[in-house]
Amino acid sequence: MNDVVIIGSGCAGLTAAIYAGRANLKPLVLDGYEPGGQLSLTTHVENYPGFPDGIMGPELIENMRKQAEKFGAEFKSGAVTEVDLSRRPFKIIAGKETYEAKALIVAAGASARLLGLPGERELIGHGVSTCATCDGYFFRGKPIAVIGGGDSAMEEANFLSRHASRVYLIHRRAEFRASKIMIDRAKANEKVEFVTPFTVENILAPQGHVEGVALRNQQTKETREIPLDGVFVAIGHDPNTIVFKGKLEMDSNGYLIAKNGSLTSIPGVFIAGDVQDHRYRQAVTAAGSGCMAAMDAEKFLEEHTQ
Ligand code: NAP
Repeated sequence: MNDVVIIGSGCAGLTAAIYAGRANLKPLVLDGYEPGGQLSLTTHVENYPGFPDGIMGPELIENMRKQAEKFGAEFKSGAVTEVDLSRRPFKIIAGKETYEAKALIVAAGASARLLGLPGERELIGHGVSTCATCDGYFFRGKPIAVIGGGDSAMEEANFLSRHASRVYLIHRRAEFRASKIMIDRAKANEKVEFVTPFTVENILAPQGHVEGVALRNQQTKETREIPLDGVFVAIGHDPNTIVFKGKLEMDSNGYLIAKNGSLTSIPGVFIAGDVQDHRYRQAVTAAGSGCMAAMDAEKFLEEHTQ
Protein backbone atom coordinates (compact mmCIF):
# COMPACT_ATOMS: atom_id res chain seq x y z
CA MET A 1 0.00 0.00 0.00
CA ASN A 2 1.36 3.39 -1.03
CA ASP A 3 0.29 6.75 0.32
CA VAL A 4 0.71 8.32 -3.11
CA VAL A 5 1.14 6.79 -6.53
CA ILE A 6 2.11 9.17 -9.34
CA ILE A 7 1.41 8.12 -12.90
CA GLY A 8 3.92 9.74 -15.23
CA SER A 9 7.53 10.88 -14.88
CA GLY A 10 7.62 14.10 -16.88
CA CYS A 11 7.92 17.55 -15.40
CA ALA A 12 4.54 17.38 -13.64
CA GLY A 13 4.99 13.89 -12.20
CA LEU A 14 8.53 14.55 -10.99
CA THR A 15 7.63 17.87 -9.37
CA ALA A 16 4.73 16.13 -7.63
CA ALA A 17 7.22 13.45 -6.51
CA ILE A 18 9.61 16.08 -5.08
CA TYR A 19 6.82 17.73 -3.10
CA ALA A 20 5.22 14.47 -1.96
CA GLY A 21 8.68 13.14 -1.04
CA ARG A 22 9.44 16.20 1.06
CA ALA A 23 6.10 15.67 2.81
CA ASN A 24 7.36 12.20 3.81
CA LEU A 25 4.77 10.43 1.67
CA LYS A 26 7.30 8.13 -0.08
CA PRO A 27 5.63 8.48 -3.47
CA LEU A 28 5.78 5.70 -6.00
CA VAL A 29 6.27 7.00 -9.55
CA LEU A 30 5.20 4.84 -12.48
CA ASP A 31 7.38 5.81 -15.42
CA GLY A 32 4.97 5.35 -18.32
CA TYR A 33 5.56 4.83 -22.04
CA GLU A 34 7.84 7.84 -22.40
CA PRO A 35 9.91 8.07 -19.20
CA GLY A 36 10.77 11.71 -18.62
CA GLY A 37 7.94 12.87 -20.86
CA GLN A 38 8.27 15.42 -23.64
CA LEU A 39 11.34 17.13 -22.14
CA SER A 40 13.29 13.96 -22.67
CA LEU A 41 12.54 14.31 -26.40
CA THR A 42 13.86 17.83 -26.77
CA THR A 43 17.36 19.32 -26.78
CA HIS A 44 18.18 22.74 -25.29
CA VAL A 45 15.62 24.21 -22.92
CA GLU A 46 16.15 27.93 -22.67
CA ASN A 47 12.91 29.07 -21.09
CA TYR A 48 12.92 27.07 -17.85
CA PRO A 49 13.62 29.62 -15.12
CA GLY A 50 16.88 29.29 -13.26
CA PHE A 51 19.12 28.24 -16.14
CA PRO A 52 20.46 31.42 -17.76
CA ASP A 53 22.56 29.39 -20.22
CA GLY A 54 19.79 26.87 -20.87
CA ILE A 55 19.87 23.17 -20.07
CA MET A 56 19.38 20.04 -22.13
CA GLY A 57 15.86 18.63 -21.70
CA PRO A 58 17.06 15.13 -20.69
CA GLU A 59 19.48 16.67 -18.15
CA LEU A 60 16.74 18.81 -16.62
CA ILE A 61 14.54 15.74 -16.26
CA GLU A 62 17.40 13.67 -14.83
CA ASN A 63 18.03 16.41 -12.24
CA MET A 64 14.37 16.43 -11.25
CA ARG A 65 14.40 12.68 -10.93
CA LYS A 66 17.49 12.74 -8.69
CA GLN A 67 15.88 15.46 -6.60
CA ALA A 68 12.74 13.31 -6.17
CA GLU A 69 14.82 10.25 -5.27
CA LYS A 70 16.71 12.28 -2.69
CA PHE A 71 13.41 12.87 -0.90
CA GLY A 72 12.41 9.21 -0.98
CA ALA A 73 10.51 8.79 -4.25
CA GLU A 74 10.61 5.29 -5.68
CA PHE A 75 10.40 4.60 -9.41
CA LYS A 76 8.98 1.64 -11.29
CA SER A 77 9.05 1.28 -15.02
CA GLY A 78 6.03 0.22 -16.96
CA ALA A 79 2.92 1.79 -18.40
CA VAL A 80 -0.43 1.70 -16.65
CA THR A 81 -2.88 -0.59 -18.40
CA GLU A 82 -5.87 -0.37 -16.04
CA VAL A 83 -7.09 1.53 -12.99
CA ASP A 84 -9.84 0.88 -10.48
CA LEU A 85 -10.91 4.18 -8.97
CA SER A 86 -14.29 2.93 -7.74
CA ARG A 87 -13.08 2.62 -4.13
CA ARG A 88 -10.11 3.47 -1.96
CA PRO A 89 -7.43 2.29 -1.92
CA PHE A 90 -7.24 2.83 -5.67
CA LYS A 91 -5.80 0.01 -7.75
CA ILE A 92 -3.34 0.71 -10.52
CA ILE A 93 -2.32 -2.08 -12.83
CA ALA A 94 0.84 -1.82 -14.92
CA GLY A 95 1.44 -5.01 -16.86
CA LYS A 96 1.68 -7.84 -14.34
CA GLU A 97 2.00 -5.55 -11.32
CA THR A 98 -0.87 -4.18 -9.24
CA TYR A 99 -0.27 -1.20 -6.97
CA GLU A 100 -2.55 0.23 -4.30
CA ALA A 101 -2.72 3.91 -3.44
CA LYS A 102 -4.49 6.01 -0.83
CA ALA A 103 -4.09 8.98 -3.17
CA LEU A 104 -3.37 9.04 -6.88
CA ILE A 105 -1.78 11.78 -8.98
CA VAL A 106 -2.33 11.42 -12.72
CA ALA A 107 0.45 13.19 -14.62
CA ALA A 108 0.49 10.94 -17.66
CA GLY A 109 1.11 13.82 -20.08
CA ALA A 110 0.26 14.23 -23.70
CA SER A 111 2.18 12.99 -26.66
CA ALA A 112 2.72 15.12 -29.71
CA ARG A 113 1.48 13.38 -32.80
CA LEU A 114 4.17 12.57 -35.33
CA LEU A 115 3.71 11.99 -39.06
CA GLY A 116 4.86 8.39 -38.76
CA LEU A 117 7.66 8.70 -41.31
CA PRO A 118 10.76 6.49 -41.13
CA GLY A 119 13.54 8.11 -39.08
CA GLU A 120 11.27 10.97 -37.92
CA ARG A 121 11.46 10.14 -34.21
CA GLU A 122 15.25 9.73 -34.33
CA LEU A 123 15.55 13.19 -35.92
CA ILE A 124 13.92 14.91 -32.93
CA GLY A 125 16.63 17.26 -31.70
CA HIS A 126 18.33 17.08 -35.13
CA GLY A 127 15.92 19.28 -37.04
CA VAL A 128 12.57 17.70 -36.24
CA SER A 129 10.63 19.31 -33.42
CA THR A 130 7.13 19.27 -32.01
CA CYS A 131 7.54 22.46 -29.98
CA ALA A 132 8.07 25.86 -31.62
CA THR A 133 8.47 27.75 -28.35
CA CYS A 134 11.12 25.25 -27.22
CA ASP A 135 13.18 24.97 -30.37
CA GLY A 136 12.35 27.91 -32.67
CA TYR A 137 15.32 29.94 -31.51
CA PHE A 138 17.76 27.37 -32.90
CA PHE A 139 16.61 28.10 -36.44
CA ARG A 140 17.55 31.77 -36.57
CA GLY A 141 18.00 32.85 -40.17
CA LYS A 142 17.22 29.39 -41.53
CA PRO A 143 14.34 28.08 -43.63
CA ILE A 144 11.96 25.70 -41.87
CA ALA A 145 8.63 23.96 -42.41
CA VAL A 146 5.58 23.71 -40.21
CA ILE A 147 3.34 20.74 -40.92
CA GLY A 148 -0.38 20.96 -40.16
CA GLY A 149 -3.46 23.03 -40.86
CA GLY A 150 -4.91 23.69 -37.41
CA ASP A 151 -4.57 26.63 -35.03
CA SER A 152 -1.32 25.19 -33.64
CA ALA A 153 0.28 25.14 -37.09
CA MET A 154 -0.79 28.75 -37.81
CA GLU A 155 0.38 29.92 -34.41
CA GLU A 156 3.70 28.12 -34.73
CA ALA A 157 4.25 29.45 -38.27
CA ASN A 158 3.79 33.00 -37.03
CA PHE A 159 5.94 32.44 -33.97
CA LEU A 160 8.72 30.78 -35.97
CA SER A 161 8.75 33.56 -38.56
CA ARG A 162 10.41 35.74 -35.90
CA HIS A 163 13.45 33.48 -36.06
CA ALA A 164 13.43 31.65 -39.37
CA SER A 165 14.33 33.17 -42.75
CA ARG A 166 11.32 31.44 -44.36
CA VAL A 167 8.48 29.30 -43.04
CA TYR A 168 6.81 26.81 -45.39
CA LEU A 169 3.41 25.92 -43.99
CA ILE A 170 2.74 22.50 -45.45
CA HIS A 171 -0.75 21.07 -45.18
CA ARG A 172 -2.34 18.01 -46.77
CA ARG A 173 -5.53 19.84 -47.82
CA ALA A 174 -6.22 23.21 -49.43
CA GLU A 175 -8.76 23.92 -46.66
CA PHE A 176 -7.75 24.53 -43.08
CA ARG A 177 -9.12 23.43 -39.77
CA ALA A 178 -7.66 26.56 -38.17
CA SER A 179 -9.84 29.54 -37.29
CA LYS A 180 -10.11 32.32 -39.89
CA ILE A 181 -8.29 34.89 -37.79
CA MET A 182 -5.31 32.57 -37.36
CA ILE A 183 -5.21 31.75 -41.09
CA ASP A 184 -5.46 35.44 -42.03
CA ARG A 185 -2.63 36.30 -39.68
CA ALA A 186 -0.37 33.63 -41.17
CA LYS A 187 -1.33 34.62 -44.72
CA ALA A 188 -0.50 38.26 -43.99
CA ASN A 189 2.95 37.23 -42.80
CA GLU A 190 5.45 37.80 -45.61
CA LYS A 191 7.80 35.12 -44.35
CA VAL A 192 5.13 32.39 -44.36
CA GLU A 193 4.55 30.52 -47.62
CA PHE A 194 1.56 28.17 -47.85
CA VAL A 195 2.30 24.87 -49.57
CA THR A 196 -0.94 22.93 -50.13
CA PRO A 197 -2.29 20.35 -50.69
CA PHE A 198 0.96 18.51 -50.05
CA THR A 199 1.85 15.61 -47.79
CA VAL A 200 5.36 15.01 -46.54
CA GLU A 201 6.61 11.76 -48.07
CA ASN A 202 10.07 11.90 -46.61
CA ILE A 203 12.27 13.99 -44.34
CA LEU A 204 15.63 14.31 -46.05
CA ALA A 205 18.50 13.85 -43.63
CA PRO A 206 21.38 12.05 -45.34
CA GLN A 207 23.88 13.31 -42.72
CA GLY A 208 21.66 12.64 -39.69
CA HIS A 209 20.16 16.13 -39.54
CA VAL A 210 17.32 17.67 -41.52
CA GLU A 211 18.25 19.06 -44.93
CA GLY A 212 14.87 19.12 -46.65
CA VAL A 213 11.48 17.53 -47.22
CA ALA A 214 10.11 15.54 -50.14
CA LEU A 215 6.46 16.36 -50.80
CA ARG A 216 3.63 15.04 -52.94
CA ASN A 217 0.72 17.11 -54.19
CA GLN A 218 -2.49 15.35 -53.22
CA GLN A 219 -4.36 16.52 -56.33
CA THR A 220 -1.83 16.43 -59.17
CA LYS A 221 0.47 13.79 -57.56
CA GLU A 222 3.39 16.02 -58.57
CA THR A 223 6.44 15.72 -56.29
CA ARG A 224 8.52 18.53 -54.94
CA GLU A 225 11.54 18.90 -52.69
CA ILE A 226 12.19 21.89 -50.45
CA PRO A 227 15.63 22.36 -48.90
CA LEU A 228 15.30 23.50 -45.29
CA ASP A 229 16.81 23.03 -41.84
CA GLY A 230 13.88 22.32 -39.57
CA VAL A 231 10.55 20.50 -39.60
CA PHE A 232 8.02 21.46 -36.95
CA VAL A 233 5.27 18.88 -36.75
CA ALA A 234 2.11 20.61 -35.50
CA ILE A 235 -0.60 18.06 -36.14
CA GLY A 236 -1.97 17.97 -32.61
CA HIS A 237 -1.34 16.23 -29.31
CA ASP A 238 -3.04 13.25 -27.77
CA PRO A 239 -3.44 13.20 -24.00
CA ASN A 240 -2.50 9.85 -22.49
CA THR A 241 -5.88 9.25 -20.93
CA ILE A 242 -7.26 6.09 -22.54
CA VAL A 243 -7.16 4.11 -19.27
CA PHE A 244 -9.24 6.82 -17.55
CA LYS A 245 -12.08 6.81 -20.09
CA GLY A 246 -15.41 6.58 -18.25
CA LYS A 247 -13.58 6.95 -14.91
CA LEU A 248 -12.46 10.58 -14.87
CA GLU A 249 -14.19 13.53 -16.46
CA MET A 250 -12.63 14.52 -19.79
CA ASP A 251 -13.37 16.91 -22.63
CA SER A 252 -14.17 15.88 -26.21
CA ASN A 253 -10.43 15.72 -27.02
CA GLY A 254 -9.70 13.39 -24.11
CA TYR A 255 -8.06 15.97 -21.81
CA LEU A 256 -8.91 15.46 -18.14
CA ILE A 257 -10.86 18.27 -16.53
CA ALA A 258 -9.43 19.71 -13.32
CA LYS A 259 -11.64 21.31 -10.72
CA ASN A 260 -10.40 23.88 -8.29
CA GLY A 261 -6.67 23.33 -8.80
CA SER A 262 -5.78 19.68 -9.31
CA LEU A 263 -8.96 18.08 -8.00
CA THR A 264 -11.18 15.66 -9.92
CA SER A 265 -14.69 14.37 -9.25
CA ILE A 266 -13.11 11.46 -7.30
CA PRO A 267 -11.78 12.48 -3.88
CA GLY A 268 -8.17 11.35 -3.61
CA VAL A 269 -7.47 11.51 -7.37
CA PHE A 270 -5.51 14.55 -8.53
CA ILE A 271 -4.33 15.60 -11.98
CA ALA A 272 -1.37 17.61 -13.20
CA GLY A 273 0.51 18.60 -16.33
CA ASP A 274 -0.37 18.21 -19.97
CA VAL A 275 -2.91 15.49 -19.27
CA GLN A 276 -5.21 18.36 -18.25
CA ASP A 277 -3.66 21.25 -20.18
CA HIS A 278 -3.94 21.75 -23.94
CA ARG A 279 -3.44 25.48 -23.63
CA TYR A 280 -0.06 26.29 -22.11
CA ARG A 281 1.81 22.96 -22.40
CA GLN A 282 5.05 24.35 -20.95
CA ALA A 283 7.53 22.57 -18.70
CA VAL A 284 7.20 25.30 -16.10
CA THR A 285 3.38 25.20 -16.06
CA ALA A 286 3.47 21.40 -15.83
CA ALA A 287 5.89 21.62 -12.91
CA GLY A 288 3.63 24.17 -11.19
CA SER A 289 0.59 21.96 -11.53
CA GLY A 290 2.58 18.96 -10.24
CA CYS A 291 3.35 20.96 -7.11
CA MET A 292 -0.35 21.80 -6.73
CA ALA A 293 -1.39 18.14 -7.09
CA ALA A 294 1.12 16.99 -4.46
CA MET A 295 0.00 19.68 -2.00
CA ASP A 296 -3.65 18.75 -2.60
CA ALA A 297 -2.83 15.05 -2.12
CA GLU A 298 -0.98 15.79 1.12
CA LYS A 299 -3.95 17.76 2.43
CA PHE A 300 -6.33 14.99 1.41
CA LEU A 301 -4.26 12.34 3.21
CA GLU A 302 -4.07 14.49 6.34
CA GLU A 303 -7.86 14.74 6.36
CA HIS A 304 -8.39 11.03 5.66
CA THR A 305 -5.90 9.34 7.96
CA GLN A 306 -7.32 5.98 8.93
P1 NAP B 1 -6.08 20.19 -34.74
O1 NAP B 1 -7.02 21.34 -34.71
O2 NAP B 1 -6.57 18.82 -34.47
O3 NAP B 1 -5.38 20.23 -36.19
C1 NAP B 1 -4.49 19.24 -36.57
C2 NAP B 1 -4.06 19.52 -37.99
O4 NAP B 1 -3.07 18.58 -38.34
C3 NAP B 1 -5.18 19.42 -39.01
O5 NAP B 1 -5.05 20.40 -39.98
C4 NAP B 1 -4.95 18.03 -39.60
O6 NAP B 1 -5.29 17.95 -40.97
C5 NAP B 1 -3.47 17.89 -39.52
N1 NAP B 1 -3.10 16.49 -39.37
C6 NAP B 1 -3.52 15.60 -38.43
N2 NAP B 1 -2.92 14.42 -38.62
C7 NAP B 1 -2.12 14.57 -39.70
C8 NAP B 1 -1.24 13.70 -40.38
N3 NAP B 1 -1.05 12.43 -39.99
N4 NAP B 1 -0.56 14.17 -41.45
C9 NAP B 1 -0.72 15.47 -41.85
N5 NAP B 1 -1.53 16.34 -41.25
C10 NAP B 1 -2.21 15.89 -40.18
O7 NAP B 1 -4.85 20.38 -33.72
P2 NAP B 1 -4.17 21.73 -33.19
O8 NAP B 1 -3.90 22.65 -34.29
O9 NAP B 1 -3.02 21.27 -32.33
O10 NAP B 1 -5.27 22.36 -32.24
C11 NAP B 1 -5.79 21.61 -31.12
C12 NAP B 1 -6.80 22.47 -30.37
O11 NAP B 1 -6.12 23.55 -29.73
C13 NAP B 1 -7.83 23.11 -31.28
O12 NAP B 1 -9.05 23.14 -30.61
C14 NAP B 1 -7.31 24.49 -31.51
O13 NAP B 1 -8.33 25.43 -31.81
C15 NAP B 1 -6.66 24.79 -30.16
N6 NAP B 1 -5.60 25.78 -30.34
C16 NAP B 1 -5.92 27.10 -30.24
C17 NAP B 1 -4.97 28.07 -30.41
C18 NAP B 1 -5.35 29.50 -30.30
O14 NAP B 1 -6.51 29.81 -30.37
N7 NAP B 1 -4.41 30.40 -30.10
C19 NAP B 1 -3.65 27.72 -30.70
C20 NAP B 1 -3.34 26.37 -30.81
C21 NAP B 1 -4.33 25.41 -30.64
P3 NAP B 1 -6.84 17.81 -41.45
O15 NAP B 1 -7.43 19.16 -41.17
O16 NAP B 1 -6.70 17.45 -42.88
O17 NAP B 1 -7.42 16.72 -40.62
